[in-house]
Amino acid sequence: MQRYKNFINGQWVHSGSGKNFSVNNPANKQQKLGEVDIATEIQVREAVKSAKTAFGKWKNSSPVERGSFLQEVANVLEKNCDDIAETCTKEMGKRLAETKGEVLRSVTILRYYAQEGMRDVGEMLPSINPNNTLYSIRVPLGVVGVISPWNFPVAIPIWKIAPALIYGNTIVWKPSELTSIAATRIVQCFEQAGLPKGVINVVHGGPSVGDAIVTDPDTSAITFTGSNKVGRTIAEKAAGLNKKYQLELGGKNPAIVLEDADLELAARLVFDGAMKQTGQRCTATSRAFIHESIYEEFKSQLLNHFKKIKIGNGMEDNVDMGPLASSKQLETVKNYIDKGVSEGANLLHGGNLLENDPYERGCFIEPTLFDQVTNSMTIAQEEIFGPVLSLIRVNSYEEALKQANDTKYGLSASLFTNNLETTFHFIKNSEAGMVQINGETGGAEPQAPFGGMKESSSGTREQGQAAKEFFTAFKTISISNNL
Ligand code: NAD
Repeated sequence: MQRYKNFINGQWVHSGSGKNFSVNNPANKQQKLGEVDIATEIQVREAVKSAKTAFGKWKNSSPVERGSFLQEVANVLEKNCDDIAETCTKEMGKRLAETKGEVLRSVTILRYYAQEGMRDVGEMLPSINPNNTLYSIRVPLGVVGVISPWNFPVAIPIWKIAPALIYGNTIVWKPSELTSIAATRIVQCFEQAGLPKGVINVVHGGPSVGDAIVTDPDTSAITFTGSNKVGRTIAEKAAGLNKKYQLELGGKNPAIVLEDADLELAARLVFDGAMKQTGQRCTATSRAFIHESIYEEFKSQLLNHFKKIKIGNGMEDNVDMGPLASSKQLETVKNYIDKGVSEGANLLHGGNLLENDPYERGCFIEPTLFDQVTNSMTIAQEEIFGPVLSLIRVNSYEEALKQANDTKYGLSASLFTNNLETTFHFIKNSEAGMVQINGETGGAEPQAPFGGMKESSSGTREQGQAAKEFFTAFKTISISNNL
């Protein structure tokens, strides 16, 4: 059985304690994919020390050279796309077409940040003293702790690691336990491209390993994507230690469909928004507010999509939806479905675990559609993170907007309409960080800022030029020429 090690100071090392965990295929839980060595607290400390030592040289290297390095990583990742996509599909279940798309998107992200090595690093400023030269430069923060989830095992780490590196930081990364093998494959691409010793370190394990990164005195900043519960703990600790932190958290994303919308388009994109990646996207559509005048027609078109969906192992060609990522996810999603039923929502489609041949060995569940949902029900307020969509009937745009905003989350929101006035009203008044007009709630482009409002984020943004704000600090320089 293949053993996956930690990567510390340029070496692949076993766990200091001999402890490990298994990674299994959620499409067939009996298929064990490997064993992963859990880093000890001492090893996390060593990883941070190694990143701190490497920081001295890395921060003083040329940003243009760091850009060339990221270009090379992009080339290696692209060459290994099929293999890494397969690893991801086997580890966390999503369809091969989806994991391939994710790897290629990560290649684009690397190329985007590679270019960043040639862009401006500060600003020249006028001074009150005509003999002063006043300017600011952006400097790296130091050792950045990267803590990532399993649902985008390649893209999320890359959209944190690439900007961190180009601006001169070094890294200690803890991937999700569920996708430790993909993390190993990613780091191997960096190695193949000529990664200097200590610039990226990887430590495997669960909450205690993540916590050791957050509380280590030598990590300067933490970038985290994951659940609100864990995010809050990290924020409290990081703030207490005066570290910079960035949190990208959950969502409860609404789509509003109005009477003048292109119904065919809206039904397809609301369906895609809810079901892609088995609903396991922070930007997944989970509440659809439908105008009463088109409710029945929209529902019938949506149901047609639900009826056609083919569930199965994401490695197979003709499959539309893979399993959930783990037994824990399966249990959580099923509990939410049961809660929906017990609170009075009407189960229109699905709702059952798939436990018979050929599904009995995997974490499979039917795509699920509820109607007669009210916005106060648990299934309309809490993040489910599975293929479950709730339909809510509304009698006006104003009512839809009010309810769409009535959630603690604020990640993404869609509006389907052909009315320009309503469109601009929605753009102004939707309490979401990502607003889509006639588009699905999911989806982001690497050059655009990504992140949420309210409890979906710490208020920071990832990707695009926005990443610079998190991964650098300003240094202001004043040179007196009075000599
Ligand atoms: P999670 O919070 O359980 O875990 C995320 C990471 O944190 C994992 O690596 C985990 O091992 C680590 N961790 C757990 N406890 C920790 C602790 N006490 N200290 C430090 N690290 C700790 O989340 P998950 O189940 O992996 O991912 C799903 C969640 O991620 C969903 O809520 C989803 O909405 C969110 N997500 C958000 C975005 C976004 O950009 N907003 C993107 C993808 C996923």
